[in-house]
Amino acid sequence: ISAVALAKATFENLREIDPKLGAFLNLNEEAALKRAAEIDAKGINPDNIMAGIPVAVKDNIVTKGLTTTAASKMLEHFVPVYDATVVEKMAANDAVIIGKNNMDEFAMGGSTENSAFKVTRNPWDVSRVPGGSSGGSAVAVASGQVPVAFGSDTGGSIRQPSSFNGVVGMKPTYGRVSRWGLIAFASSLDQIGPMTRTVKDNAAALNMIAGYDQHDGTSSKREVPDFTAGLDGNIKGMKIGLPKEYMDEGIDPKVREVINNAVKKFEELGATVEEVSLPNSRYGVSAYYIIASSEASSNLQRFDGIRYGFRADDVKNLEDVYVRSRSEGFGDEVKRRIMLGTFSLSAGYYDAYFHKAGQVRTMIINDFNKVFEDYDMIMGPVAPTPAFKIGDEISDPITMYMNDVLTIPVNLAGLPGMSVPAGFADGLPVGLQLIGKAFDESTLYKAGYAFE
Ligand code: GLN
Repeated sequence: ISAVALAKATFENLREIDPKLGAFLNLNEEAALKRAAEIDAKGINPDNIMAGIPVAVKDNIVTKGLTTTAASKMLEHFVPVYDATVVEKMAANDAVIIGKNNMDEFAMGGSTENSAFKVTRNPWDVSRVPGGSSGGSAVAVASGQVPVAFGSDTGGSIRQPSSFNGVVGMKPTYGRVSRWGLIAFASSLDQIGPMTRTVKDNAAALNMIAGYDQHDGTSSKREVPDFTAGLDGNIKGMKIGLPKEYMDEGIDPKVREVINNAVKKFEELGATVEEVSLPNSRYGVSAYYIIASSEASSNLQRFDGIRYGFRADDVKNLEDVYVRSRSEGFGDEVKRRIMLGTFSLSAGYYDAYFHKAGQVRTMIINDFNKVFEDYDMIMGPVAPTPAFKIGDEISDPITMYMNDVLTIPVNLAGLPGMSVPAGFADGLPVGLQLIGKAFDESTLYKAGYAFE
């Protein structure tokens, strides 16, 4: 099959499926077909597994010449003048970008309901959310529109929607993938990662985007292994920790059952699974919402009605430009985070909140380090429940925030975390979370491959 035929079939299929699901905000049809023709003209390189493959990109990753909104009214008409490093790498590998996926505004949320533009539905039950914030990306893969989508994960935004949609989602180690061109939410936590149908596809997609980038001072110079190597199904002798805090009363019993079955399967495969403890993980949500919101309040200062995006009409003076543009351009959740973050960073409260949250972060890192002295990998659920109903949690921020209780500690510690489909609860997909040592995505892929 030629790249052009594949791209054409992808758009045809998408037009059939996506109106019911709403995974895409904007399509790249003309440029994609042109690009596919170029790839066909120079000939598909059989050694390049990504050549001609249709991919989708979350709409907070900038794409030159293609509208990039971060699902915010603030950036409704923003057309970037450069490509994110990951997008450059996709182009260099002859992947074909099909379009941009819906998400929670500026990646703040866990259901994609915070998008300023549209509702995205879970293909397993269209009355339910797809999770978030990379909900559109997860749905694009789960509904068979594209084999690979790229999301971002600050507190769970790749893993939780992957769990809710039954796809494989990897949040790489902090620094593994360049953040250049990712519209910043919380710079010390954000990572871009792939969402796919299979573990092997995921490993191939991470191969494409990983590696040092001089444009991102926090990207790592560490050598990038071939993540598809070592996928042989043999995990005999692997030592796995199951944190007791990840299996307590807060977890839906049906989710727990799926995870218990996964434990059995790992034991059958010759791994040992033992109970461990991450005692400070219960403070993760509180620390995260202070740290992430503080960083967000700083990162979002640039949206001032002057340099980027939306500007309110009929403004009276400069102050009015700032206030009205930000009041009208940002949605409620984004404003909530800006207020929370600004408060936590203010002189009188810095020590009590931001500084304290940093100390909690260190305690969480130490918990992980301690477990990794004796274990190769940690596993548990991704989220306490399967996908919930659209409208059910959006009016209650605290319930929504608690969704991230099992994913947030991984971001705070900068570790790799992956969601692999593990089973179903009431007909809805449930993901198994695999957490690795820093820069040891390979072990997660090896284990996920043996398990899936
Ligand atoms: N749901 C979390 C939040 O709202 C995580 C978001 C993310 O990972 N981008 O912050």
